[in-house]
Amino acid sequence: MYDIAIVGGGPAGLTAAIYAVRANKKVLVLEAVACGGQIINTTKISNYPAAPGITGLEFGQTLQKQAEDLGVEIEFEEVEKIVDNKDYKLIKTEDDQYKAKCVILACGTEPRKLGLDNEDKFTGFGVSYCATCDGGFYKNRTVAVNGGGNTALEEAIYLSGLAEKVFLIHRRGEFRGSADLVEKVKSTPNIELILNANIVALNGDKKLESITLSHEGKTEELSIDGLFVSIGRIPKAKNIIDGLKLDTESYIKADEDCKTNIDGVFVAGDVRSKEVRQLVTATADGAVAATIALQYLTK
Ligand code: NAP
Repeated sequence: MYDIAIVGGGPAGLTAAIYAVRANKKVLVLEAVACGGQIINTTKISNYPAAPGITGLEFGQTLQKQAEDLGVEIEFEEVEKIVDNKDYKLIKTEDDQYKAKCVILACGTEPRKLGLDNEDKFTGFGVSYCATCDGGFYKNRTVAVNGGGNTALEEAIYLSGLAEKVFLIHRRGEFRGSADLVEKVKSTPNIELILNANIVALNGDKKLESITLSHEGKTEELSIDGLFVSIGRIPKAKNIIDGLKLDTESYIKADEDCKTNIDGVFVAGDVRSKEVRQLVTATADGAVAATIALQYLTK
């Protein structure tokens, strides 16, 4: 039996693990893909205190090593369901089951999809949700990024260093992302903005060949080799545990103490219902969730 099981090995989950293991608890982290979470897709982190310029990958790897060196156990398995047995939680993955006295949900978010025909078929064949992962396939080619937030702006800037041409397509006339990134995008010669435009079709046979845009009352076709969809993210918490209270967008409800409505179940990081989702707020949540979970264990 573990004292604390943590679902997700991103900045929130691993920070929680570090706090818990340093309090002499037996800690398990279950991570579906790779430690570091969403941040490993970021080329350079510029807004985390005292670590200017660190790459996302380096941040994730350092955090993982720090947790493991302290004695945190990490298993690479996707959690399918958690059953609340009151005095312990049963955590089920595809192949295993684990028992823990309490659980911290730090399972993060996944990319929002456009919801268009062919999107799943072309994923990996012209459609991508991560420029740092797949940008290398598009050296000297023509790509488009869709979205108007910080991620889309950063992805367009990153891709402009690889691709010959980058179209940045956004559904409104103004960007949601920060002014410095907007400035950088506007001053990058091979980025062309297409504003007030929506992608309405993904065209091609076996791979993406073009997209259809609805733009200023007309539809037009744009030939591209790759499309990077960066239109926000959705929480991964749905159905993970029966009775868990979610907000209208399916983020897990909890106050600043990171306690959910279920006794012994805590939440940390981007999957928590909150205003600001940043690396620093994720690690802060991890520290809070672990501290409150430790109080729960001493009850
Ligand atoms: P976001 O800020 O939620 O932006 C999503 C963008 O996608 C918005 O521009 C939105 O348009 C657009 N969009 C949403 N649904 C759409 C749809 N169905 N079709 C077309 N466009 C759609 O998401 P994000 O950029 O992934 O960022 C997530 C969080 O991480 C934010 O808080 C962001 O600040 C943070 N972040 C920070 C940094 C940094 O500090 N350097 C870097 C990356 C991310 P509208 O604007 O019209 O709603």
